[in-house]
Amino acid sequence: PSRGRRILGWAGALTVLGAAALGGMAIYREFADRYYTEDPSKKTVVILGSGWASMSVVKDLDVSKYNVIVISPRNYFLFTPLLPSTTVGTVDTRSIVEPVRAYCRRLGARSARYYEAEATDIDFENKKIYCEVKDISGLKHGDGKFDLSYDYLVVGVGSVNNTFGTKGVEENCNFLKEIDDATRIRERIGDVFETASLPGISPEEKKKLLSFLVVGGGPTGVEFAAELSDFLHTDVARWYSELIPYVNIKLVHSPDHLLNTYDAKISEFTEKKFKDTKIDVLVGSRVLEVRPGEVEVYDKSTKSKYVLPFSLCVWSTGISPAPLVSKLAPKIKEQVHSKLLMTDKYLRLLGTDHVFALGDCSTVVQPKLMDRFMDLFKRADRDGDGTLSKAEFTTVITQLAPEYPQLSLYADKIGRIFEEVDKDGDSRVSEEEFRELFKQADMKLKSLPATAQVASQQGKYLAKLLNSGSCEDWETFKGPSFKYNHRGSFAYVGGNSSVAEIGGKAFGGFLTWWLWRGVYLSEQVSLRNKVLVASNWAQTFFFGRDISRF
Ligand code: FAD
Repeated sequence: PSRGRRILGWAGALTVLGAAALGGMAIYREFADRYYTEDPSKKTVVILGSGWASMSVVKDLDVSKYNVIVISPRNYFLFTPLLPSTTVGTVDTRSIVEPVRAYCRRLGARSARYYEAEATDIDFENKKIYCEVKDISGLKHGDGKFDLSYDYLVVGVGSVNNTFGTKGVEENCNFLKEIDDATRIRERIGDVFETASLPGISPEEKKKLLSFLVVGGGPTGVEFAAELSDFLHTDVARWYSELIPYVNIKLVHSPDHLLNTYDAKISEFTEKKFKDTKIDVLVGSRVLEVRPGEVEVYDKSTKSKYVLPFSLCVWSTGISPAPLVSKLAPKIKEQVHSKLLMTDKYLRLLGTDHVFALGDCSTVVQPKLMDRFMDLFKRADRDGDGTLSKAEFTTVITQLAPEYPQLSLYADKIGRIFEEVDKDGDSRVSEEEFRELFKQADMKLKSLPATAQVASQQGKYLAKLLNSGSCEDWETFKGPSFKYNHRGSFAYVGGNSSVAEIGGKAFGGFLTWWLWRGVYLSEQVSLRNKVLVASNWAQTFFFGRDISRF
């Protein structure tokens, strides 16, 4: 045979061999590595939650060292930054989720396991987690309860919507936090337009039906309003053009500017963009009550109340930690914050053994703050009996007040505070009572923002820490602490425009929108997600959003 044929022959043989090897590996993964079997020689890490924090721990864990068990009532990871895009169909809901089982699979099914359940309680002393299965379709086995033991526990249970106790919100508003919320909003939007298109609907009824209200001008509220406005300007204009004159979007926001945690230029850009796209922005306004089909609003500048009608009201005013947190925190003496799980700089849950907490449900306590409190307590406690007299207590508070503005409020009322803190009335303040003051002072303990960026960086850090094995010796462990690296913030503001704050600089416009898309596409957690999101964007561009209702 000629030289060319010989080369071709070899190339063919190598291709067949390569394909056979890949096939063999696939078959091995399919059959040999299918079942989770706990290896008693390895420690077991139990991870609660399937959000940004927990899944970034799972992704990087070294399963040659650990058995991994994930427990979450949600059997998928959700890429929340694109959730607003799913409310009008710019992106499909299935494109931005990734099954937890896919994460476990990547680790090797033999070493990682997932249970669809909710952790209801934790016995920190006996290292036990109590779980309950949600009865989704009458398939619950027995009472649906079970418990598990752990060597290491990772708590990443996230947050729930915060209504600030506003009357009528739960009953009459939609939230935007989970896939179900986005699906409900999309259905409602479809419903509203089809109903308004029916014969016999008066212009007044059309106006009311097509009144959309967003409460909260943070990133989620702004992005939802922007997506809705895009939908109106493109798809509604195409399919329901006769309804356009009746449509209105209003955004009610309590502070004086939209996106008020961002640079002022970004707020300005967004407000101008919203003006151009006919979104009415009502800043300095607070919703007092939500009733079916209307909200009562208080305008801070005129100090008057007024009523706004709506057919869809999306409530997005912030978050509070998951219910499990309020159950766990009071059980641990060191947890003096009732709303968040406090950790040290290594994300170790204060007052526990081999438990970590991360993401929205937790806060890293500035070590200096806590240390300084207790350090001054110990120094003031001259006789070393673990309590302070009124004079010693006064010294501590006056020393701390200039450093912590919250405490300066207390400095001129030390006598009264001392009596309040001294719960048992023995004229001495114990360490425990002193910690209670720390709680009363309501320190702004949430030192990092509640974002996906923080949660995923914490997860990555924790996986590395666990893989290093250095935290086994819990009490004496010392190593690199968690350091947050802020890579910038984005928000989509509609009309193919985004805003961004990167490296302390503000950007806004069409190019920023491309950057926004590029970043979110690259951040998708799997190739499948990347392909689906990119193809959804292309579909929307070429064919518009799908308006079918089912
Ligand atoms: P989550 O991601 O909320 O995950 C919590 C997990 O715990 C869930 O799987 C939940 O089912 C599970 N869980 C709850 N209770 C229990 C229990 N008892 N037992 C076991 N499991 C439990 N951040 C950004 O940085 N950039 C953005 O652009 C951005 N956009 C956003 C847009 C929207 C619409 C929303 C809602 C949020 C956005 N965020 C963004 C914020 C970001 O999503 C959160 O900060 C992030 O999800 C926090 O991660 P987490 O893992 O702590 O919580």
